[in-house]
Amino acid sequence: MEANIVTTHVPDSIEPTDTTPILSHWINGRPVEVLRESTGAVHDPSTGAVIARVPRGGAAEVDAAVSAARRAFPAWRDMPLMARSQIFFAYRELVYRHRMELAALITRDHGKTLPDALGEVMRGLETVEFACGLPIHLAGLNTPSVSTNVDAHTLRQPLGVAAGITPFNFPVMVPMWIYPIALACGNTFVWKPSSHTPGATQLQAELWKEAGLPDGVFNVVYGGREAVSAILEHPGIDAIQFVGSTPVGRYVYETGVKNGKRVGAYTGAKNAMVVLPDADMELAADAAVASGYGSAGERCMAQTLIIGVGDAADRLLPLMNERIVKLKIGAGVDPNVDMGPVYSAEHRASIVEWIGKGVAEGAELVHDGRPFRLAEHPDGYFLGVTLFDHVTPDMEIFREEIFGPVLGIVRASTYDEALSMVNGHQYGNGTAIFTTDGGAARRFELEVDVPMIGINVPIPVPAGYLSFGGTRGSAFGDLKMRGEDGIRFFTQQKMVTVRWPEPGRREALSLVFPGNR
Ligand code: NAD
Repeated sequence: MEANIVTTHVPDSIEPTDTTPILSHWINGRPVEVLRESTGAVHDPSTGAVIARVPRGGAAEVDAAVSAARRAFPAWRDMPLMARSQIFFAYRELVYRHRMELAALITRDHGKTLPDALGEVMRGLETVEFACGLPIHLAGLNTPSVSTNVDAHTLRQPLGVAAGITPFNFPVMVPMWIYPIALACGNTFVWKPSSHTPGATQLQAELWKEAGLPDGVFNVVYGGREAVSAILEHPGIDAIQFVGSTPVGRYVYETGVKNGKRVGAYTGAKNAMVVLPDADMELAADAAVASGYGSAGERCMAQTLIIGVGDAADRLLPLMNERIVKLKIGAGVDPNVDMGPVYSAEHRASIVEWIGKGVAEGAELVHDGRPFRLAEHPDGYFLGVTLFDHVTPDMEIFREEIFGPVLGIVRASTYDEALSMVNGHQYGNGTAIFTTDGGAARRFELEVDVPMIGINVPIPVPAGYLSFGGTRGSAFGDLKMRGEDGIRFFTQQKMVTVRWPEPGRREALSLVFPGNR
């Protein structure tokens, strides 16, 4: 994570002979080139090699993008809805056609395996497909006869220019949870992707252009802290959706709101999966290992705490062990690999530190992912998988997000004790229960204070046409992203009251506040 203090990227010296490709901002429908000196390095986490250079945009680039978006706004807002939705259908087809290319670009700078990257693209596409139905999503209500000769209707109108600030871990899916909705609602858009995983960005911009999106409607500015503060301060930006870590999300939310913008920030997580003694333990073991170690634990919906009730942990542990020892770690492009590297050298160092902390706090280290060196790629950012047992709620490794391949087993005597651990946690993004008892599952669904719930489903990311978002330290703002809430977030609702008197009839003047009866 870039965290909120310093963006500690990588060794970043530029040799005079450096010919690494330089990525370009995308403003007003075309790439905007930058000087090599104002770029940072992008690494392949499997090898540690520098594979591209990403611009460090700031106030000037944000201003250029916002100006283009403002110019494009009136025509985009007024485009007939069927014409607008045709562009979405075309974009959907193009993304589908280029899905393997997008997946390969994700794997290259993120490190996740190719099938995992393809899964990301396909889940992002669900939200694009939802946005294709924009004429229905933007429909208002019409209520005739709210009073004598008076009718009422509502309108949903775009806000203006919207911005999206996105994290490293889903460089296609998370942006696709934001920009299709913002654009479908008639807003124009400025996207600030993560500088760690920018490789799939330009293709998304190019595909919009090929789909027929007018120039200026979709813009990209790369950068870090400076670009983000320019977005937060720019008077031409009306709404911002942020996805990333909690400290940065809290800052984005508070600063954006202070500057009069509508802001939603969807942030960090520490998700817990409750396993009841009646659970199908084979299913629960598959789920715990897949959820915790898939994408090297760099998913905000991964279940990283496994709370076993009664004897569930004792029965689960050997089954998890059987699976863990078979996991293959290697470069994401290798088809035989289950888990790739983590995304940066600094992040690997921070995970190693967390493992040390867990040991110092007294958790039992069942599998130690440190040190891990892959002979074929000695400079890659690899880690083995780590499993702690006997993690307790007073430990930092229980409370804090690690965002790496580190799982903790927690023991609870009763369902109520497990529930209070989930509801008392500082984060509340996703949770799951594993049980064969429908009544227990139903009770959990009603009692758990976490909005995204899986019942025998370990990564309960709601389908792309539903809303997504957490509570407590996992989200800031009143509305969730995507789905119904996404449409609400990116529109202003107007309520119109209309009187058409009966022909030839005039009502008498009255100073009384009009009743509707
Ligand atoms: P991050 O907070 O470091 O970065 C997110 C965005 O903020 C990036 O675009 C980055 O360039 C920018 N940024 C980073 N530091 C900044 C600063 N100091 N000032 C202003 N802008 C800054 O997050 P990340 O490491 O890219 O992503 C991992 C985090 O995202 C984890 O905490 C994870 O749980 C969270 N996440 C949450 C969700 C969700 O929906 N709740 C989804 C995916 C990831």
